[in-house]
This record gives sequence, structure tokens and C-alpha cells, in this order.
Amino acid sequence: MSKPDDYEVYAIKYATLERKASENFIGGDPHEAASNLDYYVWLARSTTRTFVIDTGFDAAVAKRRGRKMIAPPDESLKRLGVDPGAVKDVIITHLHYDHVGNFGLFPAASFHLQDEEMAYATGRHMAQGFFNYAYEAGEVAAMVREVYKGRVRFHDGDAELAPGLSLHRIGGHTKGLQAVRVHTRIGWIVLASDAAHLYANMNETRPFPIVFDAGAMVEGYRRLRELADAPELIVPGHDPLVMRRYAPPRAGLRGIAVRLDRRPRL
Ligand SMILES: [Zn+2]
Repeated sequence: MSKPDDYEVYAIKYATLERKASENFIGGDPHEAASNLDYYVWLARSTTRTFVIDTGFDAAVAKRRGRKMIAPPDESLKRLGVDPGAVKDVIITHLHYDHVGNFGLFPAASFHLQDEEMAYATGRHMAQGFFNYAYEAGEVAAMVREVYKGRVRFHDGDAELAPGLSLHRIGGHTKGLQAVRVHTRIGWIVLASDAAHLYANMNETRPFPIVFDAGAMVEGYRRLRELADAPELIVPGHDPLVMRRYAPPRAGLRGIAVRLDRRPRL
């Protein structure tokens, strides 16, 4: 492996959902407190490369599924100096509606996806509501069309996309879910996406209820710790605490974006 570059990494919050803790843990939660979910896309950029990680959902899907939109992801990316029309690399951690909607906003990009995720999203399990609930058939079909245009870059397991940035298939939540490991000035951090929805799912080994393989999900928590330089450098996919542990890049982006390549406040 070549010497890793240092990346600036951002979590960009675009939507939110209020709900009870019992909905976020298999077997429920004895405290029955609120446990909201935030929705994020992520940006990793070095002096030479820009990677957008996931693309979020649009206003129409937000309305239909009852999620509250905070700011469209493409507008927040522009505020961070990224032109979505010029982005070359978009990593799709998995094909759930809250991670792959809006991919049409990136006309110049290749989409990095695990073989296993496309097989899962187009295969036998999608005949069951339990597994297909978080997929939008139209979005999956649209991504299949991108395959025929040569725009999907498939990966099978671990893959280095650039010095300092790699993909790691975790599975669990969906069959082909991948996490992203990024080198920064504070070391290797891991964008877990939905390999860990909340810090508590991972730290207390209480899996999230939308799951293909609970065993792989729990193994995934261990794998994330292996990939990161320290457990606190794993960034969960939907935890509102991310917005509190990290600082915004500038005051005007408070509540919208935080810098993940600076040490979190614990
Ligand atoms: Zn998700």
C-alpha cells in the first residue's frame, strides 16, 4: 500500500426523524427514551481527490416516508465548495433509499458499490417486505441502468480507491453494505454508515432491527474497531450525537455539517 494521503472529512446532515428508542434496538429499549435518527451524507477530500459517500433522499421521498428534510445534500455540498456535477467518485455504502436517492445529481460520477449489494437488491430476498422495506424499486432499477452505461464500479470485499481511502464490505444490515476507512491528520477514521446506526448499537452490542444477518451485523461492530485507529474514531451512520461531538467547519454551517478529521469531544 502506498503512503496514505490526509483527507478532510465531513458529515453533512440533511434530514431527521423523531422516534422511540424501542424502534432502534432489537428487543426494544428498557428506558423508552427518545432516540432520534439523523440522516447524513459524507464528503472526503484530499488535495487531489474528492469522494462523496452516499447521496441521501430527495424531498418527495422524505414526504412520502415522513422524514423531515433539513437541507438538500447537493446544496450543502456546494456550500462546502463541491460542485456535484463535477464529482468523479461517489461511494454508495448500500442501496437503501436514504443512501442512494439523488444519485442523478452526479452526472460525471462513477458509483462504487459492492457486488453483493447489487445481487441482494435485485435478488430473491426483495420479494419479502421485511427485506425490501428500505429499498425503492425505482432507484434500484435506475442503478441497474447505470450498470449498462458502465458507470458502476463493482468491488468484492476490501478495495483501496486511493492512498488513504478504502472500502470494506461489512454486510449485516444489508448483504452488501460497505464501510469507508479514511486517513486523516488524526489517524484512520471509519465512516461506518449503517454498519452502526447509533454509537449505542455498536458499543453495547444491541443490533438495529432492520437487518439481513444479525450475526454479520455484530461481527461488523468488531471489524469497525479493527479498522479505526481508536473506537471513538468510528462514525455511526445515523446518530444525532455526531453533530454534538464534532465541530462545524464554520459558524454558518452549524447544524448542517461537521468536520470529522478533528478529535471528537466525548
Ligand atoms: Zn440508513
